[in-house]
Amino acid sequence: MEAHALPAEEKTLLTHKLLNQSYKWLTLDSRRTPMHELISTMLSHRTNHADEVKAYNTMLERFVDWEGVIQADEAELADAIQTTRYPGQKAPQIQQTLRRIKEEQGQVSIDFLKDMPVEEAMHWLTSLPGVGLKTATLLLLFNFKKPVLPVDTHVFRVSQRVGLIGAKVTANKAHAILLGMLPKDAVELFNFHKHLFWHGQRICTFYSPKCQDCVLSGICNYFKDVREKGIDKAA
Ligand code: SF4
Repeated sequence: MEAHALPAEEKTLLTHKLLNQSYKWLTLDSRRTPMHELISTMLSHRTNHADEVKAYNTMLERFVDWEGVIQADEAELADAIQTTRYPGQKAPQIQQTLRRIKEEQGQVSIDFLKDMPVEEAMHWLTSLPGVGLKTATLLLLFNFKKPVLPVDTHVFRVSQRVGLIGAKVTANKAHAILLGMLPKDAVELFNFHKHLFWHGQRICTFYSPKCQDCVLSGICNYFKDVREKGIDKAA
């Protein structure tokens, strides 16, 4: 059997192995506190990293702490986070989220998620305004070392092009499908996520993927079906 025609599970594990050999293996250490990660990830939606960081810092410089953000005038909060996309939507979502956490926990802290089963934690997080599957999985994996898989635009694009998931699979469904084929280990999942993310940023870019430099070209559906035939059909 040709490598590109391998069953999806075998191809996923082979992709993991090949990218592990190409990119450095990472330990899973939280880069930010859980509340920082939650609010930053909400701010990051359709926004580049520099603008997300600027919005986060401006917000806390202006309103000092989470209580200050809760009490802020909504329009002033939107102004403070204006470097992000959709500040008018994000400002009320952030305030509603902070209020809900405070009401339920008696403080603005989500540290309780550490002891909550994965399914329950996912359900709770995705019930917050403005928190989708991507934000919830990033938070649970990065901060609480839960075995879930965040699928962002890069992970999704590479997975579809290589053929780990079908062409019609949505990003939301891709989380569960890819997770089902990978080891249920937080560090393995973290590396799979980061390596596909880097690969999508550097090699398998949206426009003009650098297939000639790609360690996955031998198993990639896109490379075989599209590039080898010379049909320029962006995935
Ligand atoms: S061979 Fe090309 S399309 Fe396939 S994963 Fe590599 S860069 Fe992306």
